[in-house]
Amino acid sequence: MGKALQLYYIGRQPLEKGLNIIGAHIDSPRMDVKQNPLYEDTDLAYFDTHYYGGIKKYQWVALPLALHGVIAKKDGTVVTVNVGEDENDPVMCVSDLLIHLSHEQMEKKASQVIDGEMLNLIVGGRPLENEEKDAVKANVLKILCEKYGMAEEDFLSAEIEVVPAGKARDLGFDRSMILGYGHDDRVCAFPSVDAILSLKETPERTCCCILADKEEIGSVGATGMQAHYFENAVAELIGLSGTYSDLILRRALRNSRMLSCDVSAGFDPNFASAFEKNNAAILGRGVCFNKFTGRGGKGGSNDANAEFIASLRACMDDAGVTYQFAELGKVDQGGGGTIAYICALYGMDVIDSGVAVLSMHAPYEVISKADLYEAKMGYLAFMQTK
Ligand code: MN
Ligand code: MN
Repeated sequence: MGKALQLYYIGRQPLEKGLNIIGAHIDSPRMDVKQNPLYEDTDLAYFDTHYYGGIKKYQWVALPLALHGVIAKKDGTVVTVNVGEDENDPVMCVSDLLIHLSHEQMEKKASQVIDGEMLNLIVGGRPLENEEKDAVKANVLKILCEKYGMAEEDFLSAEIEVVPAGKARDLGFDRSMILGYGHDDRVCAFPSVDAILSLKETPERTCCCILADKEEIGSVGATGMQAHYFENAVAELIGLSGTYSDLILRRALRNSRMLSCDVSAGFDPNFASAFEKNNAAILGRGVCFNKFTGRGGKGGSNDANAEFIASLRACMDDAGVTYQFAELGKVDQGGGGTIAYICALYGMDVIDSGVAVLSMHAPYEVISKADLYEAKMGYLAFMQTK
């Protein structure tokens, strides 16, 4: 469905011996355009949105925003939407209330400053000539018709994502970091792909790189990690490499090892009280391993086995990879999850491993270039383990 990807490098050993898997997710928190999005209010045209994933809604106002996605039409054609990334493109935005009139708003809890239904995207302000009613909306529709050959009903079968516009940028005078949208989890997805493509000779065990969708909303749906496409693909590979049996498939999955490549919460000196420093990921100190995630006493977590972790320490040390062990903030401070627990259902060894991020899930997140580099080297070393 164009939303998830699996890459395999077939190893020397039979698949039954298990795979070395690195898995990241390629969806990020954002706003999605609703199915009946376009309306006009007081001479401005808007797209109504529904936010996707865990966001602080107040962070998504008063920012230049871009649109990415597809419009699928009844005749079977699919048009790609990409507006706001080219410097000559227009951008969209959600307005915020001016500070001068914000006395009431400033008294609100942060979770209520901007509520979900206020995330309405300004998409137009010019009326169509000779149009009496909703002339601004009519003009937007006219532009959309010219550009995409679409009618208003085609929004029903469109998927348009609203994200911060513009490129990732070097951060700091020393350019040691990158400020960008969607580091969670591209900062793990890219080094994962880079690592499997960097394998120079046939690995001992079959290597797999999975890039999954829908992690930010619970790994659900046909493209989320809870769908069985990974299992099905391994079954297909077993079929192609000899005789398929259910037992061989189960053994292949059980004997696999996995790095669930997802971002870790970087220690933020500005919010030090949310972290326990001895077990926090520090930016620049290498690729992170999280033995467990979860919340409230490790609830919902994949808790990796000590023996597996010991083998990873040996692997990373032998390869000269710089790494650190961390957990997601102070005990009882909050929590989160990844795709790790889903693959662990097969009985394979899984641990979370990724790059530390500041401002996770904000429109612009911060990572260290050194950590990104160590992640790639760590993933490469892991895939070559025997
Ligand atoms: Mn993530
Ligand atoms: Mn996330």
